[in-house]
Amino acid sequence: MTNKRYTLDQAKAAFEQARKEFYGTKRGLETEFANFVYHCKHPLNGYPKLDFVKTVPLLLPAIRNQIANRSRMMSKNEFVPPPKNFKTWINNRCWEESMPDSQPAKLEHKCCVCGKVGFKGFWVVSNERFCSKECRLKKLGW
Ligand SMILES: [Zn+2]
Repeated sequence: MTNKRYTLDQAKAAFEQARKEFYGTKRGLETEFANFVYHCKHPLNGYPKLDFVKTVPLLLPAIRNQIANRSRMMSKNEFVPPPKNFKTWINNRCWEESMPDSQPAKLEHKCCVCGKVGFKGFWVVSNERFCSKECRLKKLGW
């Protein structure tokens, strides 16, 4: 973190860098930047107002961290939620989300049919997880 305050142009350039690297659906720079500035001033859900110039530097590190976490979860065959679109990510201040460095064991997937844990490769239906095709068919009553 730097103590030097960005000019508006620098803030916008830093925002653009974050927007480019964001992993979900996004709109153009002007649209997303205007939304970001607006939401810092008019937050959802009674969140505190933010100084958008001071907030901009937080976006890119959070995005990179989330991308790294998502790819780690994917490589472990863990459930990875679909990416939010950038507007939703901004409006919900998802740069403030902290993700664990590693998944605690209690989050291990559990088959909803046989109760097996720690399996690789599974089927997900709504929020139910199945360790195998057999368990999934069992749940369906086949
Ligand atoms: Zn099972």
